[in-house]
Amino acid sequence: MMETDTITAISTPIGEGAIAIVRLSGPEAISIAATIFTGKNLHEVESHTIHYGKIIDPESEEVADEVMVSVMRAPKTFTREDVVEINCHGGMVAVNRVLQIVLDQGARIAEPGEFTKRAFLNGRIDLSQAEAVMDLIRAKTDKAMNVALKQMDGRLSSLIQRLRQDLLETVAHVEVNIDYPEYDDVEEMSHEMMRKKTKEVHEEIQKLLSVAKQGKILREGLATAIIGRPNVGKSSLMNTLVQENKAIVTDIPGTTRDIIEEYVNVKGVPLRLVDTAGIRETEDIVEKIGVERSRKVLKESDLILLVLNYNEPLSDEDRNLFEAVKGLEYIVIVNKTDLEQKLNMDEVRELAGEKPVIATSLVREEGVEQLEEAIRNIFFAGEIESGDLTYVSNVRHIQLLKKAAKALEDAMEAIELGMPLDVIQIDVTRTWEFLGEIIGDTASDALIDQLFSQFCLGK
Ligand code: GDP
Ligand code: ZN
Repeated sequence: MMETDTITAISTPIGEGAIAIVRLSGPEAISIAATIFTGKNLHEVESHTIHYGKIIDPESEEVADEVMVSVMRAPKTFTREDVVEINCHGGMVAVNRVLQIVLDQGARIAEPGEFTKRAFLNGRIDLSQAEAVMDLIRAKTDKAMNVALKQMDGRLSSLIQRLRQDLLETVAHVEVNIDYPEYDDVEEMSHEMMRKKTKEVHEEIQKLLSVAKQGKILREGLATAIIGRPNVGKSSLMNTLVQENKAIVTDIPGTTRDIIEEYVNVKGVPLRLVDTAGIRETEDIVEKIGVERSRKVLKESDLILLVLNYNEPLSDEDRNLFEAVKGLEYIVIVNKTDLEQKLNMDEVRELAGEKPVIATSLVREEGVEQLEEAIRNIFFAGEIESGDLTYVSNVRHIQLLKKAAKALEDAMEAIELGMPLDVIQIDVTRTWEFLGEIIGDTASDALIDQLFSQFCLGK
């Protein structure tokens, strides 16, 4: 499908707020740029070259900005159309003037995500790659960026394609067996083949889903609560984490404005110190609302930092906190180790079980490195860190993977019940379709429009 008009938008490269680019894509991109550019004749320059010059408003003949213009001819471009990028240097006022001039010359302002949509429609990228572009724009940490880059690179796509191919081949095999029964027990053999294949694909999908949580965390930050009795050092811990680690700007779409959040990046793990229902720093959560309800609140956290005082004996309040975090992901922090020991560390270790116990003196800035290591280890443990895994970090993908897994489970159940093969095939085909939706193979036009409208302008 080819779009015929030329679109434009301001597109700021990731991490470089100072430079802004006016990007054009479409059949008129080069001639529009050539009309308003002084310098080389852009009609004659080679593809994928960059040129210095000025943008002149043809009407007033005034100079709008000093620029570098790159010219990229179809089809080796992001959109597979002619693309021109005007790198402006004169700040936002100049950029807007350049954009206005480009629009005066007949380009149309791009809808959000329209560049990426064209790339998709022109076959340059598939749907999961397009969504990865969106994730890339929102990526909060280097790790999250890597996940998005890998996905854009097509890792998820190729895995999904392989699984679909497997399913398709199995169905085809079974059909052949039915049509050409060389053995009496063809029915039995086909069931066996189905059983093996559905199990294999199901395992692969489960694997993807199990790392999906990490992916989501990477994008949205780990909801983290700091709890402990009054005066143990919760505020000090919060301040230390915020000061030692570059705070991340928070503008995740869809988050409620009145939730107080503080983002910090701890060794690649984005922590979202959340204050939903006042759990960010809660002195008396258990006392106030009881163990049961505080458990409910704490369950919404991905990570809990439970702070104790080395200088005081363990109290019932402390024991209640241990009770409240049972079964959740938590780290015990024994603070104020610069003071005299009054805490029974054996009891603390016993209560903590396998969870890490980290000794700190926040006033002396001791133990913070160990705490950060512990946080990092929880979420980048073992294979997750190998970097070779395909992460699924997109909510839509996770939904579809779950549906695919469910359809496969239906198929597996039907196999166990010895149902006829054509019944089993319905579930297998459904699985194949759900997987296809991830990469846009069976996605409807409405879905595609909706997805691309979520993109930032200029991408
Ligand atoms: P919160 O009530 O749990 O938030 O505790 P704060 O962070 O407000 O700290 C309570 C008091 O303990 C403050 O006076 C801190 O300066 C002090 N404090 C915090 N960490 C340490 C520490 O490691 N050693 C010592 N000696 N005092 C600390
Ligand atoms: Zn406090």
